[in-house]
Amino acid sequence: PLMARLDRLLANLGYGARREVQALVAAGKVTFDGVPLKDAGKRIAVTADLPQHLMIRGVPVDPPAPLVLLMNKPLGVVCSHREDGERIYDLLPKRWQVRDPALSSVGRLDKDTSGLLLITDDGDYLHRVISPKRHVAKTYLASLDRPLSGKEAQAFAAGTLMLEGEEKPLAPAQLEVIDETTARLTITEGRYHQVRRMFAAMGNHVVALHRERIGGIVLPADLEPGKHRILSAEEAEQVF
Ligand code: URA
Repeated sequence: PLMARLDRLLANLGYGARREVQALVAAGKVTFDGVPLKDAGKRIAVTADLPQHLMIRGVPVDPPAPLVLLMNKPLGVVCSHREDGERIYDLLPKRWQVRDPALSSVGRLDKDTSGLLLITDDGDYLHRVISPKRHVAKTYLASLDRPLSGKEAQAFAAGTLMLEGEEKPLAPAQLEVIDETTARLTITEGRYHQVRRMFAAMGNHVVALHRERIGGIVLPADLEPGKHRILSAEEAEQVF
């Protein structure tokens, strides 16, 4: 496994600057299997089960990188790191905002879209999920302003639909009609505002949008908006 200096590891997990975590170690607050670690330069194996061994004041440390989270993104929150207003990162433990490597959403959901969002500090995982070559299916529940015309399913499945201002037609997408103004849409691309623009291309308007699924990962029914869960490596791979 990857080895890291204890002080560097704790600083990267957001427990403070190198000097601050060195002071914690010197004070005997950092233990491994219950035994205080005296040397801040000690090399530690960075394994997924680290929190079961390494504790600060008796509290398990945060899980080390690579970390994959599943969030139920609430409405009104942005996926950007920069924007003013509430960000998805503000919904996570404070320490996680200063982790290195930094956490980042796997693709983005609009401010006005809710539902399943993956967040990770694993660049390789992130790129595998969003890679156009992998065609990972994303399923959205869309509420519409006007009744469906009945032509949408065929138009979306054809693989010929053009979005305004674009040069390449959309890949085939599957529509499941739920009622007059509600549909479930599965797409394999991630173009800007794609679902909203697909319905706009059919003369309709999306009034609410919620992501239910990314590949083999479904948003758990009992996960409240704004809450997250840590995924195991195996769970994270269920996307593919
Ligand atoms: N399509 C959209 O229009 N918005 C999203 O947030 C995701 C897909």
